[in-house]
Amino acid sequence: MITIVTPIVPHDRVALTRLTTSARAQGADAVELRLDLCAQSGAVCQDLLAGLQDLVLPVIATCRHRDEGGAWEGSESERIDLLMAADQAGAAFIDIELAAIGHLPHKPQAGLIISYHDFTGMGTDVDARIAQMRSAGAAVAKIALTPGDSDDLATLQQLAQRHAGQGQLMVIGMGEVGLPSRLLAAAWGCSHTFARLDEDDQGSAPGQPSIHDLIHTYGIRTHNADTLIFGVMGNPINHSLSPAIHNAAFIHEGINAVYVPFLVHDAQTFWQSCGAWIDGLSITIPHKHSLFHDTDYNEDLAQAIGAINTLYRDQEGRLIGANTDAHAALECVRSLRGDLAHAHCLILGAGGVARAIAFALCDSDARVSIANRNPQRAQELAEELGCQWCSLAEAANDHYDVIINGTSVGMREDSSPWPAEAHRDDQAIFDTVYTPLETRFLREAALAGARCQNGLRMFIRQAAGQFERWLQRPAPEPIMQRAALQGLGAAALDTQPED
Ligand code: NAP
Repeated sequence: MITIVTPIVPHDRVALTRLTTSARAQGADAVELRLDLCAQSGAVCQDLLAGLQDLVLPVIATCRHRDEGGAWEGSESERIDLLMAADQAGAAFIDIELAAIGHLPHKPQAGLIISYHDFTGMGTDVDARIAQMRSAGAAVAKIALTPGDSDDLATLQQLAQRHAGQGQLMVIGMGEVGLPSRLLAAAWGCSHTFARLDEDDQGSAPGQPSIHDLIHTYGIRTHNADTLIFGVMGNPINHSLSPAIHNAAFIHEGINAVYVPFLVHDAQTFWQSCGAWIDGLSITIPHKHSLFHDTDYNEDLAQAIGAINTLYRDQEGRLIGANTDAHAALECVRSLRGDLAHAHCLILGAGGVARAIAFALCDSDARVSIANRNPQRAQELAEELGCQWCSLAEAANDHYDVIINGTSVGMREDSSPWPAEAHRDDQAIFDTVYTPLETRFLREAALAGARCQNGLRMFIRQAAGQFERWLQRPAPEPIMQRAALQGLGAAALDTQPED
């Protein structure tokens, strides 16, 4: 059973009680009292220790040395005295660095967490250090390192794999690259992980998930060695809604699986080092082309498009690339227009999404035109597909049954790639953008009486296509949609009807 530890930095006993009570209410199993940070912020540490006995959660007393990322400004003997006072006051654990273990005057009554931190890299001789921690009497061996890229994440996973069965263990990757180590702690066999209070933006270390997310979004309490591991690789990745929707689907379906965000700079290094323990992967910007040649084969449509957003394995263990964006968009257009054979469809944009949609529409015998800000890109794509192209300015001169916004226009600002006066009431309008749900393009089309669809359904459908490939069962799309709407904010829940 994983122990969720929440770091707290109270400035007085009232705050100590309040933060601990709040941590318990949110689902934490223990608090880490960061005495070094408390002292730095002016708290009287001895006064805090006097309140330990009355708390509703066990306390890990930590007074981190500056050499290992702490903020303690007093002498080493004062630091050790404070930790021994915490032991006397009833702390459940004392956390002391391996480098300082010889400074303790005697073994504390509390359990010993012996730790090693590297805030700039992956440390040195880590296996040997864990062995030293064990022989020095560690109840818990704690390793906190700073992965630079995903091959370092593989190092953390292997470390956990080698040492998890031999006593309680924390293996923590700091920063955003390290986040999966915190989310996968239970699946990797670790005994503890850290999570911040929901109301605490930063946590004591960057990259800490909130207690709520760890328990309710990621379902960490149910993870074990059999948990299937999925994720999304991208850069940036911190605002992705994919973890929320896939984990909601796993939890709803009672599937022992988890889906985590991987911040990846080099996709090939990531997959070569971590692919062995990842059961399926979503791929997003800027990596949709990166692993195209690293699969055993790609589905036909993905092969034609030249980009994949999904990796999955077949029953023989072969690695397959798929592009679920294309069919997802096609289903959205069909839901608006029905049969697409000979329907005149204009795609605005010639980037990755526009390209996937153009291939899917041509496959459905639609009559496709492509218009792009950079007309040369429109021309190149159109020539590849044998369809028409024009500049964005020229596009409004023709009539279309369907217009699809495959540009990013409307995402960051209230603007539209299409002139308001050119909308017609007999058109079907699909915007791939879903942040916001109602773009200017859709608003103006609806005013003209057109049938409209925002990009959320496509987002849910492409994720459902991934889920179905990974697990060979239908995806609970209404559950995924609800999780997406929650992620987009309460306002979206009010405006978007559920399927
Ligand atoms: P991309 O490859 O970078 O392509 C961006 C496209 O937008 C290009 O055609 C670009 O034209 C055009 N563009 C950008 N700024 C413009 C402007 N100010 N005026 C006119 N055109 C402009 O991006 P992508 O991967 O195709 O993604 C495009 C959009 O699709 C995203 O922003 C996202 O909202 C949406 N999307 C939706 C889903 C979903 O599931 N619903 C999934 C993925 C993406 P140039 O060639 O001239 O630069």
